[in-house]
Amino acid sequence: MPDIIQLLPDNIANQIAAGEVIQRPASAVKELLENAVDAGATEIRLIIGDAGKALVQVIDNGKGMSETDARMAFERHATSKIRNIEDLFHIKTMGFRGEALASIAAVAQVELKTKTQDADTGTFIEVENSIVKKQEPVAAPGGTSIAMKNLFFNVPARRNFLKSNAAEMRHIIDEFIRVALSFPEIFFSVTSNRQEIFHLEKGTLKQRIVQVFGDNLNAKLVSVQESTDYMNIFGFVGKPEAAKKTRGDQYFFVNNRFIKSAYLNHAVMSAYQQMIPADSFPLYALFIDLDPAQLDINVHPTKQEIKFEDEKIVYAFVHAAVKHALAQFSITPTLDFDLDPAIQQLDAINKPFTEEKKSEAVSSSLYKTFTQKNQAHFIERENKSELKHWKDLYEGPKLETGSRGLAVGNQQERDLDYQQPVVSYKSAPLELLPGIGLLQIHNSYIIASTNRGFILISQQLAHERVLYERYIAASHGKAIASQRSLFPATINLSSQDATLLNDLINDLNELGYLIGPFGKDAFLVEGTPADMQQGNEKSSIENLLEQFKHFSSDIKFSKREKLIRSMAWQHSIKPGTFLSEKEMQTLTEQLFNCAQPNVTANGKPTYIEFNKDYLEQLFGK
Ligand code: ADP
Ligand code: MG
Repeated sequence: MPDIIQLLPDNIANQIAAGEVIQRPASAVKELLENAVDAGATEIRLIIGDAGKALVQVIDNGKGMSETDARMAFERHATSKIRNIEDLFHIKTMGFRGEALASIAAVAQVELKTKTQDADTGTFIEVENSIVKKQEPVAAPGGTSIAMKNLFFNVPARRNFLKSNAAEMRHIIDEFIRVALSFPEIFFSVTSNRQEIFHLEKGTLKQRIVQVFGDNLNAKLVSVQESTDYMNIFGFVGKPEAAKKTRGDQYFFVNNRFIKSAYLNHAVMSAYQQMIPADSFPLYALFIDLDPAQLDINVHPTKQEIKFEDEKIVYAFVHAAVKHALAQFSITPTLDFDLDPAIQQLDAINKPFTEEKKSEAVSSSLYKTFTQKNQAHFIERENKSELKHWKDLYEGPKLETGSRGLAVGNQQERDLDYQQPVVSYKSAPLELLPGIGLLQIHNSYIIASTNRGFILISQQLAHERVLYERYIAASHGKAIASQRSLFPATINLSSQDATLLNDLINDLNELGYLIGPFGKDAFLVEGTPADMQQGNEKSSIENLLEQFKHFSSDIKFSKREKLIRSMAWQHSIKPGTFLSEKEMQTLTEQLFNCAQPNVTANGKPTYIEFNKDYLEQLFGK
């Protein structure tokens, strides 16, 4: 029997190996962009022809290659980025396996023009099917231009597998955006069929996000930034009102490399709990830095999955950082950081601090929350100026105008299949059905019909929410009407309570009270907020103080916030109160005009929804 084993010819072996690295034009885009970044470029131009099937070209102003290096670059396992296995553990560059150019050259026609910054002449090389066709000196600017033409011209089976131009173009843009977000300090442009579709000036990350996703985002980004010795997080998340019905603009980068992680996505999404409907998706671009030793290094560089040494810490950290960021601007933060006690015990969280990082990290309020053990944590709003965004919340979501900064030919088509729309029955926003009567039950609850079924409203909690938002608005200058009492009331307090009330008097007057000192430990109440029942000024103030003291003991809100929460609770309609049809109408209307109608400031639901599907289920349908 004859021997049958043969060595594959080099170009065939290369073609097979190339399949792993270059699956479609977008893979080449990623590799070529990353090479340009690794070369230290500050300006990178991407030129696409025919959705990358005809041409993918990247031009950079990086360090360029010498003649020998230019030739070497196309060899398999040719890399300037690692020398030994140890290097793998502190790799800083995007690529390191030395396979990209070899792979591209195996499945396309490649033209390389490169010149190091201080050389007089550059080098031109043409490679096709892994074979060098031409090499000659050439005049060129400092930097590198690599053009990949006619991808898979020599592997027709693969070429036939490419998708429509629209689909391949989307993949390209996805890859491009990931790189563009990671390097806002680099100028990028993208030209497709001679039309410039991105032109991204150098700038900050925030500017880059706005350039890429659209101007209308500018006021809708909340910055996330926390550092500990174990890891840092930096980036932006969208305000709840900017959340979309389609999953799409969500990006995680670990050590500046884009990754996909359902686990970390969950950490972010759960930080938005109760702030956005369950079926909408906030934008985020978050960058996590941590010691590469904490990552599984054996991940394939073209794969986007990642393994953390301790993913629970990373989860808790991301969750807490996003929650903290949202709380900073939100008027109704659910501020507890439910950190798993097991995580709080960990050394990395407890005492990791080297001297140099200590001061920086200790000033981070996240650090403080991490270090207060075994309790629900609350964070005080630190930065008053953040409150200017509060108004945005009140005005509710605005209609999206402006594009995503893209000039792709058919914008609409692109948006449609770029982000799979979530079409479900429940996704219709909840609306009360007008003209259908409201029903009060036990003088405590209201039943209201909605477009999706019905809701059972707690009259007290609903009113608490309405008042809370009204008082918040008042403390930002939208004055609350006062009603003058027919008979001003004097109240005498213990000297302790008098001190407390003195402390609160300005706030109270802004919130609709008319109250002033009246001798030692005594006060004169001449008016109350307009919506309050007359005649019990005295007990109302006393109860308010009691409630305030109760809040004071364990919650680290600002004085004003505590007062507002106390007042909202204190003044809310109590269970057992009969409401006329008109009163129920007003209350439900006011509730649904709230920025966040579904929950009280303290996190209790204001209503429970019974949707039609659920009702049908109950009856066994
Ligand atoms: P890797 O990036 O993993 O090292 P590549 O095949 O992508 O492997 O590139 C091989 C080598 O070619 C790189 O290590 C680098 O030295 C050089 N190179 C590639 N692209 C560029 C570029 N745009 N500018 C300068 N050098 C480059
Ligand atoms: Mg590379």
